[in-house]
Amino acid sequence: MRSDPLKVVQKYGGSSVATPEKMAVVAGRVAKRAKDAQVIVVISAMGDTTDDLIAIAKKVNPRPDPREMDKLMASGEQISSALLTMALHNLGCDAVSFTGAQAGIITENIATKARIKKIDTKRLRQELNKGRVVVVAGFQGITDNNIWADITTLGRGGSDTTAVAIAAALNTPEDPCVCEIFTDVEGVYTCDPRIEPNAKKLDTISYEEMLEMATQGAKVMHNRAVELGWVYNVEILVAHSQKECPGTVIKKEDKNMELRNPVKGIAHDTDVAKITLVAVPDRPGIASRLFKALTDGKISVDVIVQNMSARGKTDISFSVAEDDSDKAMEIIESIKADIGAEDVILTKDVAKISIVGSGMESQPGYAASMFAALAEKDINILAITTSEIRITCLIKEDRIMDAVRVLHKTFELDA
Ligand code: ADP
Ligand code: ASP
Ligand code: MG
Repeated sequence: MRSDPLKVVQKYGGSSVATPEKMAVVAGRVAKRAKDAQVIVVISAMGDTTDDLIAIAKKVNPRPDPREMDKLMASGEQISSALLTMALHNLGCDAVSFTGAQAGIITENIATKARIKKIDTKRLRQELNKGRVVVVAGFQGITDNNIWADITTLGRGGSDTTAVAIAAALNTPEDPCVCEIFTDVEGVYTCDPRIEPNAKKLDTISYEEMLEMATQGAKVMHNRAVELGWVYNVEILVAHSQKECPGTVIKKEDKNMELRNPVKGIAHDTDVAKITLVAVPDRPGIASRLFKALTDGKISVDVIVQNMSARGKTDISFSVAEDDSDKAMEIIESIKADIGAEDVILTKDVAKISIVGSGMESQPGYAASMFAALAEKDINILAITTSEIRITCLIKEDRIMDAVRVLHKTFELDA
């Protein structure tokens, strides 16, 4: 038996609170929900605030210090959380706003990409028990070294992760806490509905599939939010912030889901760069040296390809996020002579396209169909990588729209 009222974490994204009018709509929805539930709201910065802050910083200093960037970027969510709380007061709804630190969100000390270590929910619970709505500034936390603590941010799109992490921290079998992500589309679609108008909204998607989709560029959910939901078994609803609609539930695999269509969705990502080390000596330890240096620099590497080239040397190519590519090049330049690469080439006009679906796991033929469909449109594949439930190709960025559309059609996702 549940002892307390239902707890719900509602997250509203930046476009949903971009204007005072939209914020008033959100406040109305929150106030209504607060009549029969304990509500925690996680809020993003208004509209393009985070992009604008980054642009200003780069004008002041082209290579801004990451610690100062965290302090600057976290301010966007602090503004929107205070404003939404004021809008709630205006409706007679008792509410209080918290920064990430005030909400007890403790992170590791890695500026701009910090992971949450733990959440001390004491103050949150106290406020909820007073009958207040708690509005938490998304995308941020604090390191745990007392007066030496620093504000951190969780990576772009990280407010989703704040929401799921709080829901996970408050969720117990006796007192469940549900998580609702409200955004500017009606749920998770078979591909980005802004690229393919025939994209279909999914009623449900498994954590595993959503994690692959999000990691491969479907920015409707932050991938770490999905991972947390999966690990802590928090069901996540994704729905529209300004319309009543059933949305999409992200949850454990439902075996019937597999029978419908093995390819569940298409994800694409244009924030990708390819780096090639040309003519590296073919001996043990080279790849290890290269990728350790990148890991130490906190750079995630994705698609990796190694080919034999002339004179017994190898070419190593891999992809990184475009934002990380300049830093990756600096790291590689510093070890280039050491590992004996003849040249290093950075290509920024590349993109990734992926097909995702748990039903592909034990069935052959999907890779062949994907490559044939791309070939038919004369789209050249630069590199390929797979997981059990995903096939990803690196292609030229200017062909990404065609690639999404042809694969959406090939795998009958518009049916
Ligand atoms: P928010 O500001 O609410 O966090 P985001 O812009 O981060 O919203 O994510 C929502 C956007 O994700 C949508 O507007 C849509 O263009 C994009 N998107 C990409 N892939 C998908 C998908 N498969 N389903 C739904 N939306 C998607
Ligand atoms: N405002 C941050 C961003 O734009 C976090 C978020 O919206 O989730 O990345
Ligand atoms: Mg988002």
